[in-house]
Amino acid sequence: MAFEEWWTTDRDGNRVDCRANQFVELHAKAPVCECGQHLTHVGPETWKCDHCEMCYSYDDLYRSHGPEAYDYNCDAGSIQDDYGERKYESLPMHCGPEELFDRY
Ligand SMILES: [Zn+2]
Repeated sequence: MAFEEWWTTDRDGNRVDCRANQFVELHAKAPVCECGQHLTHVGPETWKCDHCEMCYSYDDLYRSHGPEAYDYNCDAGSIQDDYGERKYESLPMHCGPEELFDRY
């Protein structure tokens, strides 16, 4: 199944890579901490903030949203929750680090 591909940005201007097919919309970006700092990859699926010393796993960074419009608002939550504008409100939406694409 071929994916449509495009990109958008979060509110800080970080690039968000997007894909969608008829079943799902995916948004991935280089993970950022709650504080806005880019995270450093320190293990296969582990990231660390050099600023706050916080560690995150893939599951900490993964976000899953239902197909209802109210279920995702890029302006709500922290910069870590912001994966840019959603394109297809009728599709479920999954967000996370670039590893997200390996899972679909
Ligand atoms: Zn931080």
